[in-house]
Amino acid sequence: MSTRVTAARMQIPYKITFSQVELPAPQPHEILLEVLACGICGHDLEIGSQLAQEARPFGHEVVGIVRQAGALVKHVQPGDQVVLESSSFCGECDLCRNGRVDLCNKAPGIWGGPSMGFAEAMLAPGHSAVRANGIDPLAAVLAEPCGVAVDMVKVAEIGLSDNVLVVGSGAIGLMALAMARRRTTGLVVAANPTTGKLETAKRLGADAVIDLSKIPLAECGKPYGGFHKVLSTAPPSTLPASLDACGYGGVVVFIGFDWGAGGMVSFNTTSMHLGKKQLRASFASPAVYLPEALQMLHRNVVPRREIVSHTFPLSRLVEAFTLLREDRNAVRKVVVIPDAKFTQVAG
Ligand SMILES: [Zn+2]
Ligand SMILES: [Zn+2]
Repeated sequence: MSTRVTAARMQIPYKITFSQVELPAPQPHEILLEVLACGICGHDLEIGSQLAQEARPFGHEVVGIVRQAGALVKHVQPGDQVVLESSSFCGECDLCRNGRVDLCNKAPGIWGGPSMGFAEAMLAPGHSAVRANGIDPLAAVLAEPCGVAVDMVKVAEIGLSDNVLVVGSGAIGLMALAMARRRTTGLVVAANPTTGKLETAKRLGADAVIDLSKIPLAECGKPYGGFHKVLSTAPPSTLPASLDACGYGGVVVFIGFDWGAGGMVSFNTTSMHLGKKQLRASFASPAVYLPEALQMLHRNVVPRREIVSHTFPLSRLVEAFTLLREDRNAVRKVVVIPDAKFTQVAG
């Protein structure tokens, strides 16, 4: 039996439309998910600004309730609350069998269905679903971006007494900061070009905050003898300055990327060589670590009240995007909730 739902689609430049979509009964490997909430991600802005040549469904930071499960789906059942991996390892290929599941993306993914997270319901491969029963949906909805922050922190190999600089105080930067705070007895410092979110960074345990509109990033390490670790969520153009903020033997881990010319960056290899500095890319694809992320969200180690700054009903998705694009000072994570569930989830 098919299910009729309202679903949003995006086309460049930021053209959002709603339509009624017929979802067929799930295939044996699929689940039908009633969406409780879906976060807006930086990638959704890229879809709206550069990627969606044709109107397409979108929204990948999803929490929902399984309503139907195909016969081959064993680990989740109807009634389970789940979050979705944005991509998954297959568990069968040579990379997976050699223990490098982090390098495999071959499992069926959630992208390209008739609806995605900005809808009342969606189909997803059962493989993508991670159980999140008993967790506040507004916390669980952060699982996927929180997994991105977990990957950064792991790639950085933060030592017990490392001094850490977190560049960028968006949702992922703030979540990485909360984790770094628990990981080191050293100093944790947040740097951001607008001050609004630095207040949040302080509440999450930052020892100091730096307003990058006043102090250049390259100078940030000076009072600390250079940082041991820099976690950067800022655009790639800032990476040379992040390397300057590192001390001898320092490591910069970054997630920022640019689809265009901004991806090209030059930096001083001599000072890197003599300073024994490293630059490491973190890319949480496949989306591993969601159970760890859920545990931290559930236990308030990563407090959702500090990360989710705005909630909107699905019918006001256009407004949610406008806010996200225009108010960089206040917006951390914007979460969108189907209208019929808004009071229940956001209340
Ligand atoms: Zn995301
Ligand atoms: Zn594999």
